[in-house]
Amino acid sequence: MPQSRFHHLKFLQPILVLLLVGIAIISLTFSIQSFQSVEKTIRSSSFQAFNNSIEASYDIVDTALNESIKRYLRGIVTSSAKFITQIQKSTTLTQEQKTALIQDYINSNKIGDTGYSYILNSKGKLEYHPIFQGRNVSEYRHIQEQIDNDDHFVEYLWTNPGEEKPRKKLAYSIYIEDLDFIVSASAYKDELLHFINKAILKNKLNKYQYGDTGYVYVINLAGELILHPSYEGENIRSLIGENADGLLHKIQQSANRYSLQMNLVNGMSETTAHAANVEDYTYQITLDGSTYQKDVLYIYYPYLDWAIVSGISRDELNRPTNTLLYSLSGLLFSLVSIICILLVFLNQRHKKLTHVLNRDYLTGLLNRRAFHDMVSPLISNQHHPTSFSPYSIILLDIDFFKHINDAYGHIVGDKIITIVGKAISQYPNILAARYGGEEFIIFISEANPKRVIEFTEKVRQQIDKYNTLHETITLSAGITTINKPNVLLDDVIEQADKALYHSKDTGRDKITHYREL
Ligand code: GH3
Ligand code: MG
Ligand code: MG
Repeated sequence: MPQSRFHHLKFLQPILVLLLVGIAIISLTFSIQSFQSVEKTIRSSSFQAFNNSIEASYDIVDTALNESIKRYLRGIVTSSAKFITQIQKSTTLTQEQKTALIQDYINSNKIGDTGYSYILNSKGKLEYHPIFQGRNVSEYRHIQEQIDNDDHFVEYLWTNPGEEKPRKKLAYSIYIEDLDFIVSASAYKDELLHFINKAILKNKLNKYQYGDTGYVYVINLAGELILHPSYEGENIRSLIGENADGLLHKIQQSANRYSLQMNLVNGMSETTAHAANVEDYTYQITLDGSTYQKDVLYIYYPYLDWAIVSGISRDELNRPTNTLLYSLSGLLFSLVSIICILLVFLNQRHKKLTHVLNRDYLTGLLNRRAFHDMVSPLISNQHHPTSFSPYSIILLDIDFFKHINDAYGHIVGDKIITIVGKAISQYPNILAARYGGEEFIIFISEANPKRVIEFTEKVRQQIDKYNTLHETITLSAGITTINKPNVLLDDVIEQADKALYHSKDTGRDKITHYREL
């Protein structure tokens, strides 16, 4: 058999396959790893977005409170400034009377429970103050800001004598240039809650909803819903049941932490950053038999003892990564499908090709090479020591075929060859091939010469059925039977060939078994 041009490359095949499998495994591992890192990034960024929505809500509450207080303080300061200017500019009052009147005014002007007004000069000296009159307070940041700005609103921390921890204060100041007076009204943030406009605040908070389920609501430490899109006035237990206890406990802890922190702060310098951090709380709810994971983010708002809260289902939080996962799975599924379809297609093509390669185009029987390839393993016991069974080989040759070609032409000759092929291919459990021009070979697992001869006779008779010529076509046959394994196929065929020649030599249209020779 001629060897393939690439036969010497055969040993490379397993290496190539191993290499490809290796590359596939490495790229798959790489893909999984990069997916995990992308997933992590997306997960943390969607969590961050959720987190930001809470921080923004904090700012909204804080700004709303500050704005309300600012408006209130500005009103007080404006009217105070007017009153003080009038007094100072009065021509009927003595300087002592003026001082006493202003002093009275400052002392009686309460803002909230403990807030008050004061008057500074541009050097930072307290001209009028309920307690610290005469003192220079220019060292404080907020005083500095009031000196530097003609019309100013400032937030700062302040500890009064006798108080344990600093409190957030807000002050509004106006500079009266003629008098060199900075008139200021200051108030404690937590004393002016009633100024907050809940409706406006709620409206603003609604804009900071994260996703479909992450609406923002506000509760106090007892769990009462201060602001809520639909359950205002109720308790959070009515929303999330006993899970609320865990949440309220955590919020209380945040509140305690805040108090401790405040005790440590040196109250005289403070930025306006958030007073508390965003914290999280996770719980599970069971609805219609399925369990959902809920993530709650909240931030403690110390000036009102509120918590700004938003819950979101874990599913929604994970939606972007799930979408990524689904689309990647879809992609992988499509790829695998395409590969499978290609494999099936290639396999079919391969089958078709090997069929074409193994068959004789005229008769559809096996060709000589395929016959060798298929019979050789059957007659040896090298691969399967127990699988050998005795067999016979039959060679059949059309008699005087040259004459048929000459008399009727090659096309008719081809037809006769096809007829013989068809007659032979009728029989199951044999391997039959067109061995040469008008010569056929049959492998049969039959070791009884008599029965092989009977079979051959049947095939010979069969030809007449299909023959359309006026003259009879006859076949000569040569048979050999082999009872032991590992006899070379070429040697076996040579025996059958010898028997065939005997048939031809002794008059044709007959069968000879090699044993008769
Ligand atoms: P014998 O009885 O001794 O076998 O005589 P024969 O004429 O059959 O044998 P021979 O070997 O002398 O001639 C075989 C002829 O078969 C020669 C060749 O032209 C013809 N032949 C071989 N292959 C084909 C084929 O595919 N088609 C046709 N039409 N003829 C073929
Ligand atoms: Mg012949
Ligand atoms: Mg011949």
